Amino acid sequence: MSHKFLYYFTEGSEAFHGDMTQMRNILGGKGAGLAEMTAAGMPVPPGFTISTEACTLYYKEGRQINEEIQKDIFEHMKGLEKITGKTFGDINNPLLVSVRSGARQSMPGMMDTILNLGLNDASVEGLAKKTGNPRFAYDSYRRFVQMFADVVMGVPKSLFEEEIDKMKAAKGVKNDIDLTAEDLKKLVEIFKKIYEDHEHKPFPQDPKEQLIEAVKAVFRSWDNPRANVYRKMNEIPYEWGTAVNVQTMAFGNSGNRSGTGVAFTRNPATGEKELFGEYLINAQGEDVVAGIRTPSPISHLKEQMPDVYEQFVQIAQRLENHFKDMQDMEFTIEDGHLYMLQTRNGKRTATAALKIACDLVDEGMIDEEEAVLRVDPKQLDALLHPQFDADALKKATPIGRGLAASPGAACGKVVFTADDAKEWAARGEKVVLVRLETSPEDIEGMAAAQGILTVRGGMTSHAAVVARGMGACCVAGCGEIVVDYEKKQFTLGGKTIKEGDYISIDGSTGYVYDVAIPTVPATISGNFGRYMAWADKVRKLKVFTNADTPRDAKQASDFGAEGIGLCRTEHMFFEGERIKAMREMIVAETTEERKKALAKILPYQQGDFEALFEIMGERPVTIRFLDPPLHEFLPTKEEDIKEIAEEIGVTVEKLKNVIAGLHEFNPMMGHRGCRLSVTYPEIAEMQTTAVINAAINVTKKTGKKIEPRIMIPLVGEAKELKYVKDVVVATADKIIKEAGIDMKYEVGTMIEIPRAALTAGEIAKEADFFSYGTNDLTQMTFGFSRDDAGKFLDAYYDKKIYESDPFQHLDQKGVGRLVKLSAQEGKAANPNLHLGICGEHGGDPTSVEFCHFAGLDYVSCSPFRVPIARLAAAQAAIKDKRAKAAK
Ligand code: PEP
Ligand code: MG
Repeated sequence: MSHKFLYYFTEGSEAFHGDMTQMRNILGGKGAGLAEMTAAGMPVPPGFTISTEACTLYYKEGRQINEEIQKDIFEHMKGLEKITGKTFGDINNPLLVSVRSGARQSMPGMMDTILNLGLNDASVEGLAKKTGNPRFAYDSYRRFVQMFADVVMGVPKSLFEEEIDKMKAAKGVKNDIDLTAEDLKKLVEIFKKIYEDHEHKPFPQDPKEQLIEAVKAVFRSWDNPRANVYRKMNEIPYEWGTAVNVQTMAFGNSGNRSGTGVAFTRNPATGEKELFGEYLINAQGEDVVAGIRTPSPISHLKEQMPDVYEQFVQIAQRLENHFKDMQDMEFTIEDGHLYMLQTRNGKRTATAALKIACDLVDEGMIDEEEAVLRVDPKQLDALLHPQFDADALKKATPIGRGLAASPGAACGKVVFTADDAKEWAARGEKVVLVRLETSPEDIEGMAAAQGILTVRGGMTSHAAVVARGMGACCVAGCGEIVVDYEKKQFTLGGKTIKEGDYISIDGSTGYVYDVAIPTVPATISGNFGRYMAWADKVRKLKVFTNADTPRDAKQASDFGAEGIGLCRTEHMFFEGERIKAMREMIVAETTEERKKALAKILPYQQGDFEALFEIMGERPVTIRFLDPPLHEFLPTKEEDIKEIAEEIGVTVEKLKNVIAGLHEFNPMMGHRGCRLSVTYPEIAEMQTTAVINAAINVTKKTGKKIEPRIMIPLVGEAKELKYVKDVVVATADKIIKEAGIDMKYEVGTMIEIPRAALTAGEIAKEADFFSYGTNDLTQMTFGFSRDDAGKFLDAYYDKKIYESDPFQHLDQKGVGRLVKLSAQEGKAANPNLHLGICGEHGGDPTSVEFCHFAGLDYVSCSPFRVPIARLAAAQAAIKDKRAKAAK
């Protein structure tokens, strides 16, 4: 065979060569762990791993295992026969194996496992005779038929479980271990009949056929729906594939000196240094998972089998020392002999992850840099937002699912309008705001709600962006919801939920529940600050925040933001009197009228900017000029139009004409961004005045040197930027001169239109900085509307055209290429240019890593993502350093 696809893990056999990462890539996590344990002389039942590459080939060749690999599998079985002295398919002394999945990164419970493979009607008798334990032999066979039928053929599990329950009832026993050999023998017959009825062919008696079908089933399980969902949630690439481990069986079900269990070297919930786990006597692995009997805590093993316990404790310690991380181990005891079946770095809560990382440093096991790599940045979310009570969550079944748009958990009564959310919350009710989509007017209602659930919109929709900014829980784009605003109800998953009914939503998973699930508040432990300080020491990227209000700025500052990378000024226009002045500005017919309306807005803006400058002090504050199309500030409903016309003193007809005049077929590509300032330079004048006045006032008040950054959005042409910049500079310089103060300020632009990226060399000559608006840049590069893409992206994931939402994880191939190219050309034209990102990608770990490698100076993200970005930036820097050192 030209390429090696199979690797033994047997004592003395030639192991896979490579470091742990390479081993995991080829052998999968489980295979790598088995190989390492075998090499370290630990008691591991011999076996072999069929590599992840074989899985990739299986898919490439049309879901077939080619003959060469099949031949090699049987060759390796011969090797196992030699070691064990048993024969595969033998009637008297059969070799039985387990067939188990194992991807590079563990995906607990997502893929399939088959135990006791190799049994058939003849060899079960042999096994009974050889062991003198017919109960054990028939128990093993009934388990095998059950698992093979379920995993390989998709026969529903429940059919078998019902039969076991019937048998237990008939025999008047509570536990499966109380069933006799005769009972189990009968069950085998019943199970085979179920198989035959379902498959229209008898249960396969040829062990070779059983083995190949089982391996195929494990490969196939890589693509099962739950694995696909898990992969998407955890960003595990589809092309990785899973390895398959074929391992000689160790029998935990062979009597009361046997058993099976799972244990962790440290407590995975708290991180406490203590052996933590449980086991079941006379059982096989799936019993522990299925919870059919209550397992005993691992400490009981000390009394039950002291020697085995002692050996296990030592192995656990050795494994932790070897992998220098908390291990999650599976073991089986067969007639008083301990066998290790698995070891892997254990999954843990965020609190435990921080504690373990810090403890490992204190114990001298790893250094600070290594510790920084040990916590998944996304996990920090759990420390910053409330979560559902874990026990209550287990009992709840979701009725539907949308996008996990803003993390955290929320539970409250359903309301359908932002006004109701405000009112109900004001009288002390907890509410969840359910909307088709949200708009800037809903902001106060959103802030008052525990959480926000929308029917439409993607990861960069208004609801998602604003909720993340506020740190509020949000599930967006739950397209299966049918809302009836009139009746004040919605339907989802066959349930009708009315106003005032309780729902719970999980912004970290996207699930929606029709019951009240209690939440527990966020807890930041003492390790957090210490850990983040290590991260800050190594990172190169600065971390700014997107903040529009003093509250957001304060929150972000507490989380370690080093500046504001994006203040969306339009979010300041919606409250009370401001929106009125804004609307007057929009309906103005002459420049004079417009200037008069703008003059009313000026003091509000200036006040807001002063508050931001005071909080941020000498840290950079980037203020983006008005961006959205003007129609967003006008009403749509008839009654609102009437009310507002009266309020701003125009006729209803005139207001309707203005609204009609502002109508655009595609507002996202319409009259917005810098185009507003090109048509109405007085807007830029007013905003510049507000920014500069605010900076002067705060400089005078605090003695701190405020250096504002003014950011022009949606630029696509250098001359366009120059036009607006000239307005800004003329206005700013005049005010600064009049104030007699020495104040610096910068004028930069967002790069969010592909043409801007492609002409970056020209634009950079007019700009002090570029900030990548990757929400719009993604939208325009893909030609997907950021609010509508959710409708069809699922089909793209299903068909494996895209693996993830490009609005969530930066598309490095396309959009990323524009970023890199424009960063290079921009820097070449203007070496002082600084580079940042302020699209939603600025808080996404993989995108942050990209920004590091693309040579950006900073990332800017919503306040609650600041710690995530800090950690992701540190991890990128360490990876970069290590890669350079390895060269
Ligand atoms: C962007 O387009 O990435 C951006 C930050 O601007 P907005 O989301 O406000 O359009
Ligand atoms: Mg934009």
